[in-house]
Amino acid sequence: MTTAQRPGIPDLAQTPLTRFKGVGPRVAERLRALGLVTVQDLLFHLPLRYEDRTRLTPLGSLRPGQEALVAGTIELTDVLYRRRRSLVCRIADGSGHLHLRFFHFTNAQREQLARGRRLRCYGAVRFGPLGLEMAHPEYTLLADGAAPQAEEHLTPVYPATAGVTQTLLRRLVRDALDRHLDHVVEWLPDAALGELRLPSLREALALVHRPPPGTDVGALLSGRAPAQQRLAFEELLAHYLSLKRVRAGMRAQTAPALAGGALVERLRARLPFALTGAQQRVLREIAADMARAQPMQRLVQGDVGSGKTIVAACAALIAVEAGYQAAFMAPTELLAEQHAKNLTEWLDPLGVGVTFLAGRLNAAARTRALIDIAEGRAGVVVGTHALFQDEVRFARLGLVVVDEQHRFGVQQRLRLRAKGGEHGITPHQLIMSATPIPRTLAQSVYADLDVSVIDERPAGRRPIETVVVSAARRPEVVSRVRQACLDGRQAYWVCPLIEESEALDLETATETARALAEALPELEVALVHGRMKSAEKERIMAAFKRGEVHVLVATTVIEVGVDVPNASLMIIENAERLGLSQLHQLRGRVGRGAAQSSCVLLYQPPLSDMARERLAVLRATNDGFEIAARDLEMRGPGELLGTRQTGDAAFHIADIVRDRALLPRVQQIAALLLERYPERVDPIVRRWLGRREEYGSV
Ligand code: ADP
Ligand code: MG
Repeated sequence: MTTAQRPGIPDLAQTPLTRFKGVGPRVAERLRALGLVTVQDLLFHLPLRYEDRTRLTPLGSLRPGQEALVAGTIELTDVLYRRRRSLVCRIADGSGHLHLRFFHFTNAQREQLARGRRLRCYGAVRFGPLGLEMAHPEYTLLADGAAPQAEEHLTPVYPATAGVTQTLLRRLVRDALDRHLDHVVEWLPDAALGELRLPSLREALALVHRPPPGTDVGALLSGRAPAQQRLAFEELLAHYLSLKRVRAGMRAQTAPALAGGALVERLRARLPFALTGAQQRVLREIAADMARAQPMQRLVQGDVGSGKTIVAACAALIAVEAGYQAAFMAPTELLAEQHAKNLTEWLDPLGVGVTFLAGRLNAAARTRALIDIAEGRAGVVVGTHALFQDEVRFARLGLVVVDEQHRFGVQQRLRLRAKGGEHGITPHQLIMSATPIPRTLAQSVYADLDVSVIDERPAGRRPIETVVVSAARRPEVVSRVRQACLDGRQAYWVCPLIEESEALDLETATETARALAEALPELEVALVHGRMKSAEKERIMAAFKRGEVHVLVATTVIEVGVDVPNASLMIIENAERLGLSQLHQLRGRVGRGAAQSSCVLLYQPPLSDMARERLAVLRATNDGFEIAARDLEMRGPGELLGTRQTGDAAFHIADIVRDRALLPRVQQIAALLLERYPERVDPIVRRWLGRREEYGSV
């Protein structure tokens, strides 16, 4: 309950929508599906976009593709039977005419739309068989003699769902504004508001729901109007505060204090390489965290190939040495398998067992693994998110490692954390990411975490040479592959998933593998893809690793983590269709050995300017940080922050990239609130994240 509620003012978070006219139990149920239960929910249900019905457009000046408000007199109404039966109605206004087309219609409607009646309608204009038309426009009949009225405000379009129309939402929001806008509480301190130079919350809400005439439509549609920035600011603040709260909650929990280093020393002595300075520094930071009786919450950012796995392996050894278990979670089975193999190679000689747990294990093997885990015999357990199913019970889980966290998304990450704390102790958490993001962004998105950066590559690595080549020059590329393989090296040929249909993509990859096998009879070509059985995938990857397969044709299953140092050539098809960070990840599969590595980005001509610019970034730099920054500029945050894959549509109105200039102030004001007005934190968080409860709760 809101402790900071002002006396005498109704708490909108406690005022149900059923108080409104026309909201009975059935409507309330449908509104609930949209997350709308209280007046506060409704006022913070923000428009997705706006329609401009403030002007009537003469029919004679309509253009296809335009959305417009028009009015006219019906000249003709008829049912036509071209392919599909439709009701077509021609209206005219003296400047021209327009057809209205309805594929679904009732007899009543047909009679209503009689010759001579006058209509006002709104819709999208397109070319039809009879000229310009609107399909299923919204329309109203005009009373005799009445002049068609344009709207005074831009018309908001809200997120809606079956059974909740725009008309209903607009009416409810209007009622809510009329009756309750004055009850919306401003939680930002006055001083902060003055400095921000943004409108008050009430002004902002009134404006976005009911933009007055003269509003800068362009600014509004791009989300940059001051009112929207005010709301975005508060939303970013709410998210930040909620992550801070998660962090404080974790701090209050107990974790096993895990000290030790003997096993780590033994592992390091056996490695064929020395850890880089950056790896050693990050390992010290991790060890210091794990030695405390509070759960570590550390994110390790490091470019592809910077050597995160060995650092995580050392952390796992610290846990094992102290008598605890470590769980190692990877986003794909392929990667989990590879981790299991690497870890076994490293840890087995030290007498530390590695258990692999994946969906595809047969029942007996799975049962055995589950028992080993439950009885504590399994020291290090590697798997996919299958590790965190209910039936998996750890005897003494001390450390959770999450690899390639950007593939999991925020919600999953937070859920995972909840899973750990079963036996009264919370395990330490180490989160690894290969998509570094700029500092201010990281501080906001990962406000619940401490961040370490591995900013150095293992010695002796040469930068990957990247070229951009038209698919028309494929034969040259094929001979280049031949040469590299005859010189004793290996190549990846990546056919990324791009079609709507997975089956079609697979066909493309299969066809590519076949064509390459035919063109390169002296070489062994194999295909690996996500639909394959795991055992089959593993067999092929193992053969590739042993050098028995020369050319590995793959869909993007190899995107993350796969490590075969002898592979020094990578071909990526349809590179123009992929994100920069994804291309950088893919490219990171080569350049892992001593040989000079190359990456060929094949594109289908013609290349757009945008695509050309993007590919040029990859050619120019091997630095993941820089690429991530450019990717953010060019594509938006979803790809980088993992929200796209997991469907966490995190924000209502804020866009963390567009609005990133707000972030430093968000952090300052959050600090001010936490220190001086802690009672305001909960109402702010609830206002924006109210119904997504798992988000802020530990
Ligand atoms: P990523 O950070 O992308 O997960 P990996 O952990 O897969 O990178 O490491 C890439 C490769 O570099 C592996 O073959 C690993 O054994 C090797 N490696 C890691 N650290 C070093 C080092 N300090 N010197 C040389 N090779 C290293
Ligand atoms: Mg890795």
